[in-house]
Order: sequence, then structure tokens, then C-alpha cells
Amino acid sequence: MSADANCIFCKIVAGQIPSRKVFEDEDLFAFHDIAPWAPVHFLIIPKLHIPSMAQVGEEHARLLGKIMTLAPQLALEQGCRPYPEGGFRIVTNTGAEGGQEVHHLHVHVMGGPRPWLKG
Ligand code: AMP
Repeated sequence: MSADANCIFCKIVAGQIPSRKVFEDEDLFAFHDIAPWAPVHFLIIPKLHIPSMAQVGEEHARLLGKIMTLAPQLALEQGCRPYPEGGFRIVTNTGAEGGQEVHHLHVHVMGGPRPWLKG
């Protein structure tokens, strides 16, 4: 399961669908959310097609660690003010009842001055 031909985020990684890229390395891709809820709102995804957090196993621990350590670095680079006055929110929706719409694991990183559209 490396890429799914029907997955919109796999197509973004492959450059088949345009995105506003924030970061890329051999494992991860980050890009601005097309419908932002907050002044700063980008998504970090693994290039590997993992449908959601429900499919995550021990073999993905390094990948998830990379995502979580990248998030604060990119948040500052994208304009979130430093902790504690600033900060950011990390969200991963999982499954229908978790509010997940795109079934390729992604971490939302949101921040910037309030109010936000949601939350
Ligand atoms: P979720 O509900 O957690 O699955 O969130 C999916 C997110 O992907 C939503 O916030 C969408 O706005 C965002 N999204 C969907 N299509 C694109 C796209 N082509 N480029 C950037 N963000 C997208």
C-alpha cells in the first residue's frame, strides 16, 4: 500500500493535483488546506497511503514521530506565534464519526489570531 490511484492526497503527492506546498521530504508532504478554518491551516501527510489512524501500527511509529516533530517547526514557519501566547492546534479526524472526509492519514495544523471559522 504505497499509493492509491483513487486517493486525492496521493495525487497531490504525485503532483497530479496542484497544491500550495509547505514542506516535502522523502517520507512526508505538507500543504495548505484548500478551505482553511484558521489564519494558518495546513495538512501534514505521509507519502505512504495509510487510510487513517485506524490502520496505524508499530511499523508506522517513526513516520508518526516525524509528523509530530515537524508540526511545531512548520507552525512557526507558517506564522503561528510562539507558545504560550501563540501556539497551534493539531487535529486528526478518523472515520465517519470522527469527521474524516479524505481517507489518507493527515494531521491538520491550525493557528493564528482568533476568531477562527471553527473552534
Ligand atoms: P478531514 O475532514 O480531516 O478528512 O479533512 C480533509 C481536509 O482536506 C479538509 O479540511 C479539506 O478542506 C482538505 N482538502 C480537500 N481537498 C483538498 C485539496 N485538493 N487541497 C488542499 N486541501 C484539501
